[in-house]
Amino acid sequence: MSAVPATAPGHGSPAVNRSATVDALIIGAGFTGLYQLWSLRKLGLNVRVVDAASDVGGTWYWNCYPGARTDSPSHIYQYWFSDELLADWDWKQRYVDHTESSAYFRHVADRFDLRRDITFNSRVDSARWDESARRWQVTTSTGETIAARFLITALGPLSAPVVPPFKGHDRFKGRLVHTARWPREGVDLKGKRVGVIGTGATGIQVIQTIAPEVASLTVFQRTANYAVPMINPTYGEAERAAMRARYPQTREAIWTTFVGFDEAAESSPYFSLTPEQRRATLERLWADGSLRIWVAGFMELLTDAAVSEEISEFVREKIRARIRDPKLAAKLVPADHGFGTRRVPLENGYFDVYNRDNVSLVDLRETPIVEITETGIRTSAGEIALDVIILATGFDAGTGGLTAIDIRGTGGRSLRSEWKGEVRTTMGLQIHGYPNLFTTSAPYAPAAAFCNAPTCLQHQVQWITECIEHLVKEGRTRMEPAAETEASWLAHHDELAAQTLVAKTRSWYTGANIEGKPSRLLSYIGGLPAYREACSEVQRKGYAGFELA
Ligand code: NAP
Repeated sequence: MSAVPATAPGHGSPAVNRSATVDALIIGAGFTGLYQLWSLRKLGLNVRVVDAASDVGGTWYWNCYPGARTDSPSHIYQYWFSDELLADWDWKQRYVDHTESSAYFRHVADRFDLRRDITFNSRVDSARWDESARRWQVTTSTGETIAARFLITALGPLSAPVVPPFKGHDRFKGRLVHTARWPREGVDLKGKRVGVIGTGATGIQVIQTIAPEVASLTVFQRTANYAVPMINPTYGEAERAAMRARYPQTREAIWTTFVGFDEAAESSPYFSLTPEQRRATLERLWADGSLRIWVAGFMELLTDAAVSEEISEFVREKIRARIRDPKLAAKLVPADHGFGTRRVPLENGYFDVYNRDNVSLVDLRETPIVEITETGIRTSAGEIALDVIILATGFDAGTGGLTAIDIRGTGGRSLRSEWKGEVRTTMGLQIHGYPNLFTTSAPYAPAAAFCNAPTCLQHQVQWITECIEHLVKEGRTRMEPAAETEASWLAHHDELAAQTLVAKTRSWYTGANIEGKPSRLLSYIGGLPAYREACSEVQRKGYAGFELA
C-alpha cells in the first residue's frame, strides 16, 4: 500500500463539503491520538486526526472543572517515545492539575509539529466500511468526507458524559453544568448556592475545591466513596533531576506491574503476615499519599473477601477520624462495597469539607431526587434552593464514545445496535465485522479502566502501529479478528473477571451506571504483563487468529 496524499486543504479550521483520502484517520487528539499520529507519520503514512475540541488534550481539554487533577504521578503520566521530550519538559508537581496536563499536550503537539494534521472543532458523525474499496468512509459534523484505509479510535474511555434523566431537567433557571463540559471561561461560583450531584473521583475534586468559595454547598450523594489523601509536593530542580535520573528504571518498571504504575505490589500474601505486620504495612502504604495502597499493595484485595474487608475497615477508620459529626461520618463511610472494587480517588481535604458550616450532605438513599425545579432540586424531603447545579455524574465508559458514532461494518452491520445486545472486542484492539478499525481504551483491555492510562495506551498505540506496518509491508489491505478469536478472548476475560470482587460490584467498571447497558467487567483484569504477552503472542504468530487479506 502506498501513502495517498490528502486532498483537504486548511486543516485546523472547520471544513464544508470537502473530501479527503488518507491512509489513516485517527479520531481524538488526546494522549492516545497524538502519539498515534506521531507513530504512523514515522511509517511514512498520510495521517489525519479529527477532534471535536478546539485544541489538543482530550480528557484534559474537556475536564477543566475546578480541582481537575491527575491521580497518577506526573513521572508516569507522560510519553516515553522521545528522550528529548523527557529532557525538556519540567513537571511542576507530583500530581498535576488540568492546566499543567493541557500545557504538556500543547507542548507535545507543537514540538512534533502535530497540529498540521489535526482538524479541530469537527466531530466524526459516521464511519462506513466500504468493502469494495477496502476503506472507511467517514463523515464529520463540518461536512467533510474522509476515506481512510485504517480507522483508529482514540476517544479515551471516559469521553461520553452521562446526564441522568432527572425530571424537570430543562426547567432550572440557574446554571446547570456537567463537569466534563465545563465552560472554558469558567463558572462564577463565588457566593452562590451550589449543588453537586455525584461523589466519584470528579465530584470529590470539585467538592473539596469549591467549598471555601461558595455561599453554600449541598452534596447529593448516592454512594459513599473511599478516597486516599493525596500528598502532592511541588517539584524544584533537585526533585526533577532525581526524577530524570530514574527515568530509565521507571520506563522499564511500568511495563512489569499489574496496572502500569512503577511500583511493585507487596510480595507477601496478606494473611501470611501477623496482624501487627499487616497494620504496619497498610500504614506505610497509606502514608505514601498515593494510590499505592490500592494498585501496589496486596493484590488479593481484588479477589479475597476477607482481605477486602480488613483493608476496607482500615480505610473506613481513617475516614471516620476526619469527620466530627459521627452521624455524618456514618453516611460518608462506604458500607456497600469493598475498598478498591470501584475506582479509588485521591482526595485533598475532601472529608474535612463536611466539617464546614456551609456544606451539607443529602443522602439520596434516604431522600432520593424527585425532580429539578426552576429554583433548585426537590428530594423526597423537600426542595433545596440552588443557583448552580453541578453534575459530576460520570460517563458511559468504554463504549459511549464509540456508540456516539454511527459505525457500520461489513454488510452494513451497526456497532451501536450490536453493542446494545452484547459488547464484543478482541483484546480491546479490534472488533470482528469491522475490518481495519483499531480501537484504543475499548472494553476488555486494561486500558479500558484498570491501568495507569498512559502506560496502557502507549502499549496499544505501539501494537496498532506495528500491526499497520506489517499490513503495509505485506501489501495487505484488510484485517479483522476471526469470530472464534473474539469469542475465546471474551471467554478468557470472563473467566478472570469472575474471580474478582470488582466484577461483582456495581460501578462504571461493570456498566452498572448506565441503565440497560450489558453488564460485563469493562477492563481486562489479568494485569498488564499478561495482556502484553497475549498481544505479543498474536504478533509472534503472524497475527494468528486474525484474518488478513
Ligand atoms: P463516576 O465515578 O461514575 O461517579 C459518578 C457519580 O455520580 C457517582 O457518585 C454516582 O453515584 C453519581 N450519580 C450518577 N447518576 C446519578 C443519579 N441519577 N443520581 C444520583 N447520583 C448519580 O464518575 P466520575 O466521578 O466522573 O469519575 C469517572 C472516572 O473518571 C473515575 O473513576 C476516574 O477513572 C476518572 N477520573 C479521574 C480523575 C483523576 O485522575 N484524578 C478525576 C476524575 C475522574 P453511584 O456511585 O451511586 O452510581
